[in-house]
Amino acid sequence: MIEDDMLHDATTDGVVPMAGLLAMLMNTGCAVGFGVKALDGSYRVANQTLEQLLSQGGRALLGKSDSELLPVDVMTALARADRRIRAGATAAAEEVELAVDARRARYLWLELPVLDQDRMLQAIASLVYACSPQQAPDSLLQTLDRLQQANQELQQTVAELEQLASTDKLTGLWNRRRLEDCVRREIERFERYQHPLSLLLFDIDCFKAINDRYGHATGDEVLQRVAALLQGGLRGADSLARWGGEEFVVLCPDTNRATARRLAERLRAQVGKARFPQVGQLTVSVGVAECDAGESWGEWFQRADEALYRAKAQGRNQVQLAPGADRPLGTGEGAAANFVQLVWRSAYECGNETIDGGHRQLFSNANDLLAAILSERSADDVKALVDRLLADVRQHFAEEEAVFVAAGFPDAAAHVALHRQLIAQSLRMGEDYSAGKQGLGEIFQFLAHDVVTKHLLGADRKFFDHLQRKATFAG
Ligand code: GH3
Ligand code: MG
Ligand code: MG
Repeated sequence: MIEDDMLHDATTDGVVPMAGLLAMLMNTGCAVGFGVKALDGSYRVANQTLEQLLSQGGRALLGKSDSELLPVDVMTALARADRRIRAGATAAAEEVELAVDARRARYLWLELPVLDQDRMLQAIASLVYACSPQQAPDSLLQTLDRLQQANQELQQTVAELEQLASTDKLTGLWNRRRLEDCVRREIERFERYQHPLSLLLFDIDCFKAINDRYGHATGDEVLQRVAALLQGGLRGADSLARWGGEEFVVLCPDTNRATARRLAERLRAQVGKARFPQVGQLTVSVGVAECDAGESWGEWFQRADEALYRAKAQGRNQVQLAPGADRPLGTGEGAAANFVQLVWRSAYECGNETIDGGHRQLFSNANDLLAAILSERSADDVKALVDRLLADVRQHFAEEEAVFVAAGFPDAAAHVALHRQLIAQSLRMGEDYSAGKQGLGEIFQFLAHDVVTKHLLGADRKFFDHLQRKATFAG
């Protein structure tokens, strides 16, 4: 179904040919009914004459379709015209009989397509005027011919105007409006097929200083050159637009955030290597965001903008990736491609279900925490994961102690003491972290590295041997 804003565009685009045709028909001195119906068949625009022609009994036209408004013979004729327009005809005419104020008369009903800038049908326009009784059939055809020709010429003009209106004059790139048309279609595709879709937002670093130092004209040349460099570095399916001032947007269909980040890195490096007349070298900062399910264009763009802001704040000349809005932690391609993972291996197992299960759980908790830190989840999310890891470490130590004490591990007391020490340190670090006295880096280093990895793969080995020997003898 046609969207209201699309219809708004479509009707304003359509008004240009309609205005020409109307003027032509007005000259013949007869009242002309004019209307536009959306692709679902309902009228969205109608002038008074068309209202009078169709709204017998004072029924309002807007929102209604031909089948609700017209007798079967007229409706059938118009359905025929609709089919021709939908099949690509530049005009379709039907002669129909309408009763106005109880007087029946014959009318020429002319339909014309309203196309968007991609020449896709957006709506169907109608012009309806009375056939004069003395008008010969061939002169009607001549009128239709002239109308068709005029319409084609005007559609061509509309297409050219459209091209002008969608291009940035300085760089020749798409402008913001054209990009947003494309974004709308890509988001629909994304929602239907779930192909990943990413966005890169480029901003030239310290561009104002270039203008100030070398003048606006040189600034303009820099913008043109950067546009050309970006365009030259893109892949076929990507779309580049000048977003405004010294900002450029690249829309990347079928591209996840990891690939988008690599593309952004490559383009950033390309611009950084280039030499600009007078100016020498310059740099760009880039924000990258992958579209999330259910996210609006505004929300998606804002995440890219926030990433760009971070790139600027952290020293410019770099790419920053926006965290996903609601992707589950530690899973999915993005996480696998971007995050260092602690990989659990079967060699880490001692053969005791309780101990191995506990170790695996701690690895997985540590990975979740790492993913949360790297994707800059909220402080509350991270705190919840730190707390979970701490709680699981404590529970695991207790379970493990029960196992090796029962198995008569000779160094049990020393190992329990080691656990106590790690727990005490964990609690201290957890409290310091909550109080803002401890950075995330240290706490992650301690929990993931010292407690989970080093302790599990180091100290625990000692009783692994004992447990395995016992299991062998028992078996
Ligand atoms: P930052 O690294 O933080 O992005 O700093 P910046 O100087 O690049 O950013 P700022 O937003 O302060 O300045 C952007 C400048 O771009 C200011 C504006 O005059 C200039 N500008 C915008 N459009 C054009 C244009 O079409 N031509 C030229 N020459 N300059 C433009
Ligand atoms: Mg800027
Ligand atoms: Mg800038």
